[in-house]
Amino acid sequence: MGKNDKEKKSDKHADKASNKKSEKKSVNRSDKLAEIEKLLKNYRVEDGKNFRLKDFDAGSTAGYPENRKEEGKGEADSILSRGVEWLAELQDRLYAQDRYALLCIFQAMDAAGKDGTIKHVMSGVNPQGCQVYSFKQPSFEELDHDFMWRYQRCLPERGRIGIFNRSYYEEVLVVRVHNEILATHKLPDKLKTKDIWDERLADMAAFEKYLSRNGIMVLKFFLNVSKAEQKKRFLARIDVPKKNWKFSSADVIERGYWNDYQRAYEEAIRATASKEAPWYVIPADNKWFTRLAVIAAIVHKLESLDLQYPKVDKKQKAELEKAKALLLSEK
Ligand code: ATP
Ligand code: MG
Repeated sequence: MGKNDKEKKSDKHADKASNKKSEKKSVNRSDKLAEIEKLLKNYRVEDGKNFRLKDFDAGSTAGYPENRKEEGKGEADSILSRGVEWLAELQDRLYAQDRYALLCIFQAMDAAGKDGTIKHVMSGVNPQGCQVYSFKQPSFEELDHDFMWRYQRCLPERGRIGIFNRSYYEEVLVVRVHNEILATHKLPDKLKTKDIWDERLADMAAFEKYLSRNGIMVLKFFLNVSKAEQKKRFLARIDVPKKNWKFSSADVIERGYWNDYQRAYEEAIRATASKEAPWYVIPADNKWFTRLAVIAAIVHKLESLDLQYPKVDKKQKAELEKAKALLLSEK
């Protein structure tokens, strides 16, 4: 057997082994994806026609033990840590391929855990591929434009994951609950009719359709915390000195509008849930579960995009070889 034959044989061997390895990997992957899909379908809303917020349990943990000291904690933990790794890998491919972008919108009542969720979910991701924006009350400059202007400027570039911590949905939530805010907006009075909320919701749904047709995929998360759990968390913010900075007495006043907010959320989800830009109503009474479900939804979406590293053609390969030869010939 000549040297070449030997090499060929061992190449074949290596190919076989690597094929087996990738086969195994993809079986594991598809198993995991099926498990994730089973979990997510309980919380995903793609058609809002019959959507009722009260059908969604804020305390759900999809069968994992609520008390994480019990058996099963390890399983949830390992899904979470594997999810972080998995997301990091997908984000790398999203960035390299540079075609799609993913916009993740986070909406919730106060203390539902938006900040902590964003922090944990993105913990493994390359900061260069991720852009986070938090939206507060609009500035005078922003009020001088149409309502979508300030959000549109923050959309993620291709190859990136964009996070909106609050979003244009505030325009049909806080502004709807506190009608007096709309009175301060510079929109012509003639346009401030009773239909304005439905009009805005229709514009948002159309905007999301437009984005998805441009390869900017949208996922919307409503972190669904119960009123009782919010109270517990507010009290902890008052009682635990390290958490005092997080407490604002305005939050307690806002809590007084709980039912109005729930109604506004329900209407928003009804009018804007779609296949291309679904809402996830994520149980938020258990923080560890919120994180697990959000990461699962992002992984699930990115997996569906079939992200691939760009292929190098013959000419580029020849250039790489030339550059390699040049480097190796350096004294
Ligand atoms: P946290 O309280 O966890 O730090 P947060 O998102 O509640 O985070 P805050 O600074 O407390 O941040 O609040 C931001 C405020 O800005 C919220 O009360 C929200 O309703 C308000 N806001 C956001 N967007 C708009 C908008 N378009 N119009 C009016 N108010 C808005
Ligand atoms: Mg707040």
